[in-house]
Amino acid sequence: MNIRTAWEGHGRIALVTLPLLTLAALAAIVILMNFRADQDEANRRIRIADQQIAISHVISEAALEIAAGDGVDDTIRNSLVMLDRDHYGLRYGNAALGVSGEHSATAERAFAAVEPVYDELRSVADRLAAGDESAAPAVVDATGAFRGSMAGLRSLLVDDASKRSATLLRVEVVMLLLAFLTTVIVFILAPEVKRRREEHRKLSRPSRPDHLTGLIRRDPLAERLQYAIARSAKLDEYASVLVVDVDGLTEINQRFGHAAGDRLLQELATRFKEVVRASDTVARLEDDRFAILIEGNHRAEDSGRVAEKLMAALELPTAAGAHELHPSVSIGIAVAPLDGTHPDDLLENAEVAMVSAKQLGGDTYQYYSPELKALTRGRLEMLDGLRRALSSDKQLRLAFQPKVDLRSGKVTGAEALIRWSHPEQGEILPGEFIPFAEETEVILGLGEWVIERACRQVAQWDTIGLDQLQVSVNVSARQFRNGDLAEVVAKAVADAGIEASRIQVELTEGALVDDIDRARETLAELQELGVTVAIDDFGTGYSSLSYLKRFPIDALKIDRSFVQELSPNSNEAAISTAIIALAHSLDLEVVAEGVEQAHQLAMLEELGCDTVQGFLFAKALPPADLEAFVGMASSPNAAAPRLGGRYVPSY
Ligand code: C2E
Ligand code: CA
Ligand code: CA
Repeated sequence: MNIRTAWEGHGRIALVTLPLLTLAALAAIVILMNFRADQDEANRRIRIADQQIAISHVISEAALEIAAGDGVDDTIRNSLVMLDRDHYGLRYGNAALGVSGEHSATAERAFAAVEPVYDELRSVADRLAAGDESAAPAVVDATGAFRGSMAGLRSLLVDDASKRSATLLRVEVVMLLLAFLTTVIVFILAPEVKRRREEHRKLSRPSRPDHLTGLIRRDPLAERLQYAIARSAKLDEYASVLVVDVDGLTEINQRFGHAAGDRLLQELATRFKEVVRASDTVARLEDDRFAILIEGNHRAEDSGRVAEKLMAALELPTAAGAHELHPSVSIGIAVAPLDGTHPDDLLENAEVAMVSAKQLGGDTYQYYSPELKALTRGRLEMLDGLRRALSSDKQLRLAFQPKVDLRSGKVTGAEALIRWSHPEQGEILPGEFIPFAEETEVILGLGEWVIERACRQVAQWDTIGLDQLQVSVNVSARQFRNGDLAEVVAKAVADAGIEASRIQVELTEGALVDDIDRARETLAELQELGVTVAIDDFGTGYSSLSYLKRFPIDALKIDRSFVQELSPNSNEAAISTAIIALAHSLDLEVVAEGVEQAHQLAMLEELGCDTVQGFLFAKALPPADLEAFVGMASSPNAAAPRLGGRYVPSY
């Protein structure tokens, strides 16, 4: 039993017990008040009895004085009046004295015993008061007898009172216990009451559907999900949640406007509803995120089939003004009870699976698995680590891979490649963390850091005479699109006090084609600054050669994958030939990267490639090693890394 259900169980018990306890407490208060009144009256009776004894003393004293020869005065008469009032008050009740005249059976008997003694006292005292001095000794005797029997009555009254106070104490203890219990239960009850009120609020004010698509939102979906989970458990079926995220909606909004993006979402909502059964639920979670609840499956893999149908429903293009859109989606699936039995858990796990589908490049679906969750966690930890590395400035450094000019054999430039020594995991290669960083704004900080460091390195090389070396930096698509690239480079160049032409920016084709007008603008800014631009990994992306003409570009880097497959008559050789010819016709420098073997170098030379870069010459090196490499490459003697006109790997 988890904490939540435990609370709910206790809450329900509390809900029943609280009214009962309140009633009990009220009854106890009434009883307590009665007891208190009784107790007060008992005390008053004892005081009156004491008073009676005291007055009878006064009468006895007066009688003795009369016997000794003093005359009869008013003392006896006055005392008798008081004695009478108190005595009958005590016996039969008197509101002014605060006594009721009701007595316990034992007290009644004691009163009956006192009665004749009192009558005797009264008759002799009356005689004395009337002036019959001979009655004085009898009065003294009678008061003595009266005191004796009054003392007996008094002790009975005291007994009675103490019995009552013991009962009172017990009632008070019970009351305290009740009060304590009520407090505890109210504390337990408070969250339950709050939850119920919340539930009631939700039910009585159905959350409004999404204004754009008319679909329900997250809260009502979670409610339906809860019922679906319970029902499928009873029927021994599966209920699954598909979280469906539209790929690249931000780009669609940017290129075609928000109205087009909105229409696309409406169209998707319609198509999704057509695909699923009427008993299934389609909801819109966020901007570009839908969720679909599927019930009544007998096999867990049925939801994968639904995902395929959803994807197939997008094959027909949708319209965005004059353009046609071919949207795709990434789908994550979580199945109850396998992947969770609580709506929040299921939705969260389906989202984890969706993110994983996205990372596979989108346009696919993924089932949730605990390993995926661990991966997501790993990704978040990696990003945190990168943020820390950026602010500590100790874990990151740049390595430089030389670029060799094929005609002169000289090192004309170097590509700056980032290196990360993680405090726990050791060296991590950029291929492992750059893709994660590119998904977030972390890549912007990272990119600025690289540009700034590269400029500082150039300034330092200037001081030791390496003033011809151009350093290229890799700029991610996100940073290019961010719009402030030229500004960032200009500042770094100015801070380091170097010529902007000493810096080259490497961009991928993807970064350029996303928003052609913006790209041309940024490239023009860079050109004005004097920074050169190379297209990285050329041949792997859109390879739309038409844009080459339209953009101010300086160099093409033929992707490693072509260079590695280079052999006479291979497709790759044909492609490389075409790329080189094309680039030269556009007056672009051609760089071949990933050159590992002598025969690749020989072919590139034959094809007229301008510059080469690869392990055949050197890996990415620390600055000092690059300096040494440049020295060897430019030395004319045989110790230089030339072999039959070719360089050999030195590192
Ligand atoms: P890239 O821009 O294509 O960089 C070239 C990669 O190929 C480097 O890997 C380099 O070490 C490797 N390489 C060079 N010569 C050879 C060779 O002969 N054979 C083979 N097999 N590989 C070779 P690295 O340093 O691991 O970087 C991988 C990728 O990470 C880079 O690919 C680039 O896309 C990215 N990256 C590296 N540093 C940065 C950076 O500072 N900023 C950004 N945005 N991305 C970076
Ligand atoms: Ca590169
Ligand atoms: Ca590359």
